[in-house]
Amino acid sequence: MADHYEVLGIARDASADDIKKAYRRLARELHPDVNPSGEAAERFKLVTHAYDVLSDPNQRQQYDLGGAGGFGGGGGGFNGFGDIFETFFGGGQQQRGPRSRRERGQDALLRVEVELEEIVFGTTRQLEVDTAVLCETCEGSCCSPGTSPQTCDICRGSGQIQRTVRSLLGNVMTSSPCGSCRGFGTVIPSPCPTCAGQGRVRARRTIPVDIPAGVDTGLRIQLPGQGEVGPAGGPNGDLYLEIKVKTHETFSRSGDDLLATLELQMTDAILGTTATLRSLDGDVRVEIKPGTQSAEVLTIKERGITRLRGAGRGDLKIGIQVVTPVRLNSKETKLIQEFAGSRRPVPPEFSTFQQGIFSKLRDRFLNL
Ligand code: ZN
Repeated sequence: MADHYEVLGIARDASADDIKKAYRRLARELHPDVNPSGEAAERFKLVTHAYDVLSDPNQRQQYDLGGAGGFGGGGGGFNGFGDIFETFFGGGQQQRGPRSRRERGQDALLRVEVELEEIVFGTTRQLEVDTAVLCETCEGSCCSPGTSPQTCDICRGSGQIQRTVRSLLGNVMTSSPCGSCRGFGTVIPSPCPTCAGQGRVRARRTIPVDIPAGVDTGLRIQLPGQGEVGPAGGPNGDLYLEIKVKTHETFSRSGDDLLATLELQMTDAILGTTATLRSLDGDVRVEIKPGTQSAEVLTIKERGITRLRGAGRGDLKIGIQVVTPVRLNSKETKLIQEFAGSRRPVPPEFSTFQQGIFSKLRDRFLNL
């Protein structure tokens, strides 16, 4: 094990003050809050252990005589180095001087349901938001009109109460927030009646919001400064809109593409036809070639969703489902039999497995 004096970089006859100074200097360099590296953490452990031993006169004497000087020996008042660090550096949370009443307001989250139609090109919504707004009576001062905050008598405006605590390192000054003014340094003798001294009130307001084209479920839109106003008129937080795109009866979404299923009569599939279909943005004309099969996909370019990032639009993809006629009358049955008789017979047979047919079926159930 490394020599404790070497670890701290001090002479064997170093005074208690030298030991403290050396530890302090190394802690500033190696404490995990300052230096996150693993190597620093290891060195900090050694340094802290060396300090624990050498700062306790009994343990130091034992160490100097070649004793163990092990961990946990002696009766130090500290539990671990966290306490020592806080004593040296004043702790993490505590700050000097009074705390401001003004604080940033909280962020707010609002869930917004939009129709698939609305995200093809984007939309504007009037959203009602229940939020904290600045109190108009006191304009955030928290005081009754004509009055003002007064210096706290207990802490004399510092917001802190100082105490002297005896510790291993001698007497240490610690401070804690003043209980009388809750650390503000001032008290409000006559709180604003409108907001009960909060500087803000709850209100419902309506804000217009642009929902861009191409947004998808789960996406969050940040509206800076549209969250609630902070205590005592502090700056606004942000408002986040979480998008949920509603399920559409006809169209499904795959990235920026729109998917739809087209039912096609067997005769149209055989002979070919043209059709005008209503898409989410007006009519599209599709041409069905003679001999079209079930599960074929027609792609209509640039009739999908406008892309959220980048230019252009996705495509409209139309999956064909050929419909077999049922309940034929005797004349129709005869015509089909004649047609069948004119063809070379092909017995039903397994073909190559096609996953696509089954995944389409599954998708249909998922979209219900
Ligand atoms: Zn007020």
